[in-house]
Amino acid sequence: MSAIMKRLGPAGEISGMKEGFVVKLVLSAMLALLNPLAFQAQEAAAAQRQPPPPPPGYIPPPLNPGGVRLETRRLADGVYALLANTPFTDNSGFVVGTDAVLVIDSQFNGQMGRQVLDAVRQVTDKPIRYLVNTNAFGDHTFGNYVFPAGTQIVASRRTLEALKHTTVGELRQRMAPTVGNDLSVFDGVELRLPDVAFDEEWSVDLGGRRVEARFFGQGMSPNDTVVYVPGARVAWTGNLIFGVGTIPWAQMGGIAAYRQTLDRLSSSLDVGTIVPGHGALAAGDAIATYQKYLETVQRAAADAVGRAVSFDDFVSTARLPAGFDIAPALVPLMTGFHRWNLQRAYIEAGPKP
Ligand SMILES: [Zn+2]
Repeated sequence: MSAIMKRLGPAGEISGMKEGFVVKLVLSAMLALLNPLAFQAQEAAAAQRQPPPPPPGYIPPPLNPGGVRLETRRLADGVYALLANTPFTDNSGFVVGTDAVLVIDSQFNGQMGRQVLDAVRQVTDKPIRYLVNTNAFGDHTFGNYVFPAGTQIVASRRTLEALKHTTVGELRQRMAPTVGNDLSVFDGVELRLPDVAFDEEWSVDLGGRRVEARFFGQGMSPNDTVVYVPGARVAWTGNLIFGVGTIPWAQMGGIAAYRQTLDRLSSSLDVGTIVPGHGALAAGDAIATYQKYLETVQRAAADAVGRAVSFDDFVSTARLPAGFDIAPALVPLMTGFHRWNLQRAYIEAGPKP
């Protein structure tokens, strides 16, 4: 796992930093009595050096795959989404050509990986020659090990490097909050690394069906990959774009970088249907909605910093911005993501140390 992912990893790790951060805030508050603007600068600089603790109301994404069923949805000739029957657990998918099959994401463990294999076998007996991992998190990669030995696993170079520098134990610890600390989810999991790594683009012809894997830059994670079927205008977006009625989660920070990544995505691919890594199928215009949301958050942060609104006042009771149609069942989760994004945007907008 890269250094930055270690610093900005999921909740368990970050909450350990809370104490130091609070001490810094108390010291900053004492300074504020002397000079509010100095407090502002100090606070933003401190936040920039180490990530803040998760904001009030943040809840880890609920990813426990126990009891989850994947529904096969045909999107075009040979193009299938595998959609989880719970609101935010992982989706997958597969593409069938005349020669071979390509699968997108192997799910959270061997049991779920086998469910993907079974779903493919309900549709075709052609060989599963390729599996693409859309990022390095366990919920997208831990099922790799149940795929046939002849399946080539494809990932961006950043995903491969992240996986090379971690272990199942480390990922298990980091991801435990997302499964309600139910460690049985990880039983039997073996880390199987990608065989093929690409820098920006990889493509394959499955026989009458071309599939591309693209890396446009960091987004939710440092290594989000999009899988695209040009003939069907279908894109699997992993964690870069969640399902309909969501907002992005700049989990690793970098609101500006996330926007640039989406700019590259929207100018490179003509997307009609999005199969998100999490959430319900979305239309291609979700990309523009995500761009607009990130711009809104950046503007709000710049305004707050300009008016010397404190970090806590800006973040802790913030509600989802108007104009974004959030799925009712996901409002608590998205509110936490929104406040997390506000933290990162505030830090980015603040004075540089
Ligand atoms: Zn994910």
